[in-house]
Amino acid sequence: MAILFCQFCKKPELKLEIFLIFVLIMNQNGVISERLNGILSILIPPICLIRSCYHKRWKGLPLCRSCLRKLHPIQKDVCHHCGVPECNDSHEFWEFSFDRVRSLFLLDPVLSGVIHGFKYNGLKRNARFLSAFARYQYGLKNYIEEYDSLVPVPLHPLKQRERGFNQATLIARSLSSFSGVRCDKTSLNRRKYTKTQTRLSGTERVENINSAFVLNRKTTIQGKKLLLVDDVFTTGATSEECAKTLLTGGASSVGVITLARTGLNTDVDDYGLELELAGSFLT
Ligand SMILES: [Zn+2]
Ligand SMILES: [Zn+2]
Repeated sequence: MAILFCQFCKKPELKLEIFLIFVLIMNQNGVISERLNGILSILIPPICLIRSCYHKRWKGLPLCRSCLRKLHPIQKDVCHHCGVPECNDSHEFWEFSFDRVRSLFLLDPVLSGVIHGFKYNGLKRNARFLSAFARYQYGLKNYIEEYDSLVPVPLHPLKQRERGFNQATLIARSLSSFSGVRCDKTSLNRRKYTKTQTRLSGTERVENINSAFVLNRKTTIQGKKLLLVDDVFTTGATSEECAKTLLTGGASSVGVITLARTGLNTDVDDYGLELELAGSFLT
């Protein structure tokens, strides 16, 4: 593509190609709405949503085939308690109030890109896409079905207004739609406007999140088994604080499920999912 110059005034002309590239960049940054994106995709073949990857998407999925292959699902020989594959720990000394935790993927650069896409750029389809993987992960449906309700980790009302949605609720809704377990987004509220946990150390995270959650007075969680839903599990500080609040309110037990997990020093499958299944993810 060459930039052409007007033969009269010598200024560069805005060519259609330049406009389309501008649109593509805007689209990757989430500036363009999903509806407008749908219209544009008729004109421009949709590209992979991973930043600076301009490959064509694979079979209607938001990623190209090569990025899809870079995802690391955690699904084989997963420990019933800590969710780590091939764990040898008996967990005699379990440090958390929640009974167990399971995550769908290892947090790697590709997954970070997808999560960043929906969390900060409002690409809600990314959350639906990732949650849809749960349908095909071994034992995941049974894991979810053991609970009475899915409880998304709430955002502070101010942050939710800024962002326009709660990413954990999007994930919980998606998990609810294929498992049939109801999504309870009203019982747990966040009363403290906390700093983002991303750059904090373990102790700072605990301090930052301390007493951040409160129960809705009208909640009916007494005696219920609740599955807490979040996007990323790092040290477990947020999940712990939520679990403590839910258990104090009378929940009989709390489990955790997240899209991603950090800090696993273990080899997970390079690509454990069948690519043929991918075509039906968004149905
Ligand atoms: Zn890609
Ligand atoms: Zn374990």
